[in-house]
Order: sequence, then structure tokens, then C-alpha cells
Amino acid sequence: MQHEAVDGVVIRVKDFGDHDRYLTLLTKSGRMTLLAKGAHSLKGGQRGVSQLYTYGNFEYYRRGATLPILKGGSPIQPFYGLSTDLEKLHLAAYFCDLAYELSDEGEESEELLRLLLNALYAVSQDRYPADLVKAALEFRLSAISGYAPDVGACDLCHTVDADYFYLDVMNGALICSSCLSKRSGIKAPTDDPSEASLLCRLSPSALMALRYLISAPAERLFAFSLEEGREREEFCRAAETYLLSHLERGFDSLQFYHSLQEKG
Ligand SMILES: [Zn+2]
Repeated sequence: MQHEAVDGVVIRVKDFGDHDRYLTLLTKSGRMTLLAKGAHSLKGGQRGVSQLYTYGNFEYYRRGATLPILKGGSPIQPFYGLSTDLEKLHLAAYFCDLAYELSDEGEESEELLRLLLNALYAVSQDRYPADLVKAALEFRLSAISGYAPDVGACDLCHTVDADYFYLDVMNGALICSSCLSKRSGIKAPTDDPSEASLLCRLSPSALMALRYLISAPAERLFAFSLEEGREREEFCRAAETYLLSHLERGFDSLQFYHSLQEKG
């Protein structure tokens, strides 16, 4: 029996029967699922790495054609800071859902893994405001998935100088405020409210932040700021709308996160 080991983050946990648990990891070589046998009465080494969000070194072995079986492991970064706050916990769950959605088995995922780890770390340690970490991750994941918006100039008149720009979500382009008001066709309310909201207003500082996020080095991704208020809310909404529109789906974890924010 050959033993192997891999570093990864637990991005999904699913209990199976009374005793076993499937752990889906994101590793730099893609997604992989391990079977943790007797997960509810796990011995020390296994227990320490069987929780959602744990970044660790996982030891496993293969037996026949079944899933690789977890033998033990050691946490590298357990992100304890997440478990103290329900809002952070749901945000982390959303980050993990995004990582699951954007990864595949056997597909190189080094950049995705680094972004996920940096985002989990930033939120668990309160290094940066959680709403900005979320927005940064969403825009950056859009970019690495091949949906990077063209953020240079107005797509219609090519101006780089406008009071406001709007992010045209489905076209991945900018439209300046004067082109938008000239083209009443774009502005006209439609029967479909979701379509109307696919133009997201970006203030000059929000646009600067977006330009930064598309190209910043991964380790400096969250090192930007936007003042609290309407412009920051618009920016965060744009990031979420942009990514989810391109993924063509929503996430329960995100709904939980928002419902907690509304209560708070
Ligand atoms: Zn224009």
C-alpha cells in the first residue's frame, strides 16, 4: 500500500453514513476528495485536518478503485479566527464554494489556491475589511476565469475621463455616464429587473480599485481601500453581480451571509 501526502484546503465536507466523511480539498493540482473513515471518532491526526477551511498536509493511501483514504495529517493553518464569528464563517463558506465551482479534478489550481488562502487569512485575522476582501476575490476570480472586464476606457466613445463609469456586466466593458444618457435604449427600464441591474455604477475611486484588482500581484491583492459609503457599496455589489452573472448561478452560503448582514 502506497502512502502519499498533499497540501490543501478543505473546501467541502460531507458526512456519509454514521461514521464516515468525505473531504474535498483544493490543492495546487486541482480538487481531490478523500474518505475519512470513522470521522466522528477520529484519532488525533485525522481530527485536526477534517474540518472545513483547514489548510493542512493530508496523508492518504489508495486501496483499489475507491476514493483515497485519509490516514492522518497536520494542520498548517486552521483559520481559528473564522469560528468566532458567524458572518465570517458564512463568508468563508462562500469563498470555498467559489473555489469548488472554479476548480476541477486534476486541473492546475495554484493561483486559485493562493487567492483562497489569502482571502481566508485576511478575513480570519481581520487584516482588511471583509466586504473589500470579498469584492477583491470576486473580481480577481472573474479575471482568472477568463472574464476580466475591459477597464481601460468607455467602450462606446473611448473616453477615459468621465464623472462616472458603468460596468456593463454581460459585455465586460465600461460605459461612460454621457454615453449612457445618450443611449436611452440602455437606460430604459426593462420588464426583467435583473437585466436592468446589470449596469453597475462605478465612482472614479471604485474604478481605480477595480483596475488595481485586475492586475495586482496576488500577495498585494487586498492592499487597497475605499471609503465606506455608497460608492463602496456599489463597488461591492458590482463585484458580486459580475462574478455570479458570468458563473450563471448563486450560492446558498452567500445568501446566508447577506441575511446575517441585514440583521446586523
Ligand atoms: Zn462614452
